[in-house]
Amino acid sequence: MKILLIGIGIGIVLGIVIYSTLPSADRMNEVKVSVNVYLIEDLTGEFTTSRSEENVRFLFKEVNRIWKPAKISFVPVGIQRVTLDAEIIEFVINGGPIELPNSDTTRVKTFFVRHLYGSNGLAITQLDRTFVADVTTVNDYRATSHEFGHVLGLSHVDPEDRLMAGGKNGEQLTEEEIKIARRLALFQQR
Ligand SMILES: [Zn+2]
Repeated sequence: MKILLIGIGIGIVLGIVIYSTLPSADRMNEVKVSVNVYLIEDLTGEFTTSRSEENVRFLFKEVNRIWKPAKISFVPVGIQRVTLDAEIIEFVINGGPIELPNSDTTRVKTFFVRHLYGSNGLAITQLDRTFVADVTTVNDYRATSHEFGHVLGLSHVDPEDRLMAGGKNGEQLTEEEIKIARRLALFQQR
């Protein structure tokens, strides 16, 4: 009996020691961020995206792989094609207000467009809006992940291996970035 109790005691202590030496990210609950996805088209074709719903699902799979260390996952809650006038699209890209189907002010809104005047992606943080172009100079899923980083309060950094380096293919997040992003993601979740 005594030996069994000592065994259990050692087991508990060992468990606590192992648990407390894990990186803090491993102990966190997963935070889900709902995203309204809009595949943009316009009658002139200037901004019409060539992306399919399947392609968007692939992008999100890769985005969630990149964001996994932060235990944040982005969930597309609606992938919709929206036809707008080219001037309206420019307005939206520049942060203008717009009523969109299935839109929720608390949700992140992601727009896929043919081009963004040469940029890979764009984030309007105060509106939780991100944009990704069809042709990107970096991996498109990385551009998508990077813009989500801005929406979750992250700023640009220099090291190329980091997700928040501008115009690079880095995917790394630091503990500090994870802390900041999770705080905003939790807020986003409400
Ligand atoms: Zn950026």
